[in-house]
Amino acid sequence: MNQTQIIIIGAGPAGLMAAQEFASRGNEVHVFEQNKAAARKFLVAGNGGFNLTHSEALEDFIHKYESKEIQEIVRGFDNQKVIQWLADLGITTYVGSSGKIFPTKNFKPIQVLKAWLDQLEDLGVIFHFEHNFLDFDDSKVYLKNKEGELSLKYAKLILAMGGGSWKKTGSDAKWVETLAAKNIEITPLQSANSGYNTEEKFHQLQGQYLKNIQLSFGEYSKIGEIVFTKYGIEGSPVYYLNRFTRIHEFPQKLHIDLKPNLSETQILEALSGPDKISKVLKSKLKLSTTAINILKTLDKESYLDVQNLSKMIKNFPIDVLSFRPLDEVISTSGGVAFSTMNSNLELQNFKNVYCVGEMIDWEAPTGGYLLQACFSTGFFVGNTISSS
Ligand SMILES: Cc1cc2nc3c(=O)[nH]c(=O)nc-3n(C[C@H](O)[C@H](O)[C@H](O)COP(=O)(O)OP(=O)(O)OC[C@H]3O[C@@H](n4cnc5c(N)ncnc54)[C@H](O)[C@@H]3O)c2cc1C
Repeated sequence: MNQTQIIIIGAGPAGLMAAQEFASRGNEVHVFEQNKAAARKFLVAGNGGFNLTHSEALEDFIHKYESKEIQEIVRGFDNQKVIQWLADLGITTYVGSSGKIFPTKNFKPIQVLKAWLDQLEDLGVIFHFEHNFLDFDDSKVYLKNKEGELSLKYAKLILAMGGGSWKKTGSDAKWVETLAAKNIEITPLQSANSGYNTEEKFHQLQGQYLKNIQLSFGEYSKIGEIVFTKYGIEGSPVYYLNRFTRIHEFPQKLHIDLKPNLSETQILEALSGPDKISKVLKSKLKLSTTAINILKTLDKESYLDVQNLSKMIKNFPIDVLSFRPLDEVISTSGGVAFSTMNSNLELQNFKNVYCVGEMIDWEAPTGGYLLQACFSTGFFVGNTISSS
């Protein structure tokens, strides 16, 4: 290796995108990865519907990210650019449910990854698998492989080691301790896009869905679909509320509006007629079996009191006890703080060292926004530094 090399640690989507941008501008790029192969979490994402970005209009899209910094970076390499980039790789996409972008059915996740890795190989990117990042200083990065420890000089060092969930994919967040010891500010990693553990009485609804409901926590709410699991609830409205519940202590109360398009007065009117409650719920209010089942978890007296029942239909309380364990969740919030980097994502204390992807302190809902921010930050660093 020569002295002007770009060293990237982590072969996830953020690291690969940075590698692509550096290499396409003629730089010598080396990617070091502790696994035997690239992008294992990217492939895991592929198992559950490979949602690569979202088709939303840009202004709505970027407001899915809270921090201004990440909004601007996503604006620079946005959802349309991701779709175009995939097309350039030969991967066709389609807009699926709720505007999410997926590769067309003829492309399996492994084929998407292979097309990308083939392109990186054509660009001359050199991969070094089974290399563990240990540490770095002003000029060198320290790694470990089967033969022992090694140190390499870097011209630019790009850290792309991911968040802290799904450790078996390689994203073990061991970097947190190493970076924190260098006085690099790290916001603690926490569960994001996580289900909630709830009170036991809801566990009996395991496997049942509530569609078109509104889930709220105080002033924050989201319409969508939730599913009951053996421990609690999952679903996009659940994930949306994560960031608002995180800043308070558990247990917390969420509320489900089982009939968002009717007012409490309209519901009470329907229930006050001569028909039996069960008939009104099913035929007049057209509540789903699951919605009726959840109302049946009320004690008999509360269920038969139509005034109370109307209130419950609009505001059914769910006591949430905790997030799911960090290792199980789709993504983690927290990471390298923007305040510890300059506007190029370069660490303030370490010139020529940059961070990209989920290891930075941003969070986003599911729906393609996570991978999008990983692609965008990788692109941003590769593009900005190569052009400066
Ligand atoms: C079940 C699941 C489903 C998902 N579905 C979607 C989806 O549909 N859409 C979406 O947008 N997002 C989805 N995500 C999230 C998305 O996959 C991640 O946000 C994304 O992969 C993060 O990319 P990254 O490059 O920052 O890090 P990662 O993909 O985590 O890659 C980091 C890499 O760094 C390596 N590494 C870590 N530490 C070291 C070290 N010390 N030395 C060397 N290498 C190291 C790791 O082995 C890993 O390969 C999903 C996640 C999960 C778990």
